Amino acid sequence: MTEPLKTDIAIVGGGLVGASLAWALQSLGYDVTVIEKVAFRATAQPSYDDRTLALSHSSCQILSGLGLWEGLAANATPIREITVAEPGKPGRVTLRATESGLEAFGHVIEAREFGSVVLQRLKQPGLVNWYIPAAVTAVVTGSNACKLDIESEQGTVSLQARLVVAADGAASTVRQLLGIDARCHDYEQTAVICNVTPSEPHRGRAFEWLTDSGPFAILPHVGNRCGLVWSVPTIQAQQYLDMDDAQFLHEAQKRFGNELGAFRKIGRRSTYPLKLVRAGQDTSGRVIIMGNAAHAIHPAGAQGFNLGLRDVAVLAELLAEKPGQDPGCEEILAAYSSWRKPDHDETVAWTDGLVRLFANPSKTAGLARTAGILAHALLPPLRRRLASKAMGYRGRTPKLALGQPLRNPG
Ligand SMILES: Cc1cc2nc3c(=O)[nH]c(=O)nc-3n(C[C@H](O)[C@H](O)[C@H](O)COP(=O)(O)OP(=O)(O)OC[C@H]3O[C@@H](n4cnc5c(N)ncnc54)[C@H](O)[C@@H]3O)c2cc1C
Repeated sequence: MTEPLKTDIAIVGGGLVGASLAWALQSLGYDVTVIEKVAFRATAQPSYDDRTLALSHSSCQILSGLGLWEGLAANATPIREITVAEPGKPGRVTLRATESGLEAFGHVIEAREFGSVVLQRLKQPGLVNWYIPAAVTAVVTGSNACKLDIESEQGTVSLQARLVVAADGAASTVRQLLGIDARCHDYEQTAVICNVTPSEPHRGRAFEWLTDSGPFAILPHVGNRCGLVWSVPTIQAQQYLDMDDAQFLHEAQKRFGNELGAFRKIGRRSTYPLKLVRAGQDTSGRVIIMGNAAHAIHPAGAQGFNLGLRDVAVLAELLAEKPGQDPGCEEILAAYSSWRKPDHDETVAWTDGLVRLFANPSKTAGLARTAGILAHALLPPLRRRLASKAMGYRGRTPKLALGQPLRNPG
């Protein structure tokens, strides 16, 4: 029988979170192997698509500390102002970055652009071992290592890893192979996304309209384009795809109003069914469940990838603390889990609560949400709390998010 191949850390899923983690951990000197199911240039690639991603201030710091921001900055758009409102109701909150002493709350980038920057770096020879396209079909956890069976067109190979990270998205195969339960809630909403170009300059303003049918967001993007994310009831989603461009723009304009003048050009439309998926545990044996595999959340509040990047920053910091240590030892897994849990709990609860409150058509909920928005508008401490959430600072902040290096120089 042939001996299994060996690696320090196997990352299952080379999407937004898996690729960021691979980049961070190879820089710490670990032998890293990435197993990704879908070729990166394939149109079916689910992670690197047309989505515009609002990255919080803390995420931009993390990417900068990892040396990735310099490749992204040229096509990133600063978010200088965020307005949250209920259309047709008096409540409205506008948060300005300058009020928090910042130039921007964060930046907007395109998922595809992120993929091209990080993958170009990771594809440099000798940095990371790749299995792509390939799928993990079995995981066996042991006291000293985990064994993965990896299936590709070339056949099946066995890989032994001291740590396995499942970053294989909301329907995580690794999570299922390990028998880890996940709490799922179908919002019965679908996000329709596309780019639109308004007649007036966006000047870095982002908008989130909270409506009975779901949130409607406009994010500032390069070339005065704006990323539109419109959550509609799933049973109506096909209608929004079938409309011709003029009709869709008309409906979007009716929903959004004239804050940025008239919507003119429009890009390709795509849809995403929206579900909450929360894994019952984020570690098991020598396995860490990370990113959407651990917590897939509604895009209202734009928190998903930001939360995943904080997962990356925390694991990288724990592994950087003691060079050469066993990356899958109990101590690391326990420290990771206890550090990440409060942020996961709070971000999931905050996002889920926001979506449920604004999707509730009852009169009481209507009054409560208007009051909630007014409270944020009128009470400075609540305003500051909202702004600090928007910037991605929660609980114990990892060094990278504070702009500090993973390892002290010298
Ligand atoms: C409409 C929309 C807008 C969003 N906007 C924002 C935003 O503004 N800001 C923000 O922070 N977040 C946003 N998000 C959330 C963000 O997209 C996710 O948090 C992010 O994609 C999670 O990355 P991930 O790598 O964990 O998972 P994924 O992006 O799902 O990537 C998983 C990867 O694993 C691969 N894979 C799957 N199964 C296997 C397998 N068995 N073996 C090997 N590989 C496998 C997939 O091919 C994929 O490459 C948005 C989401 C949506 C739907």
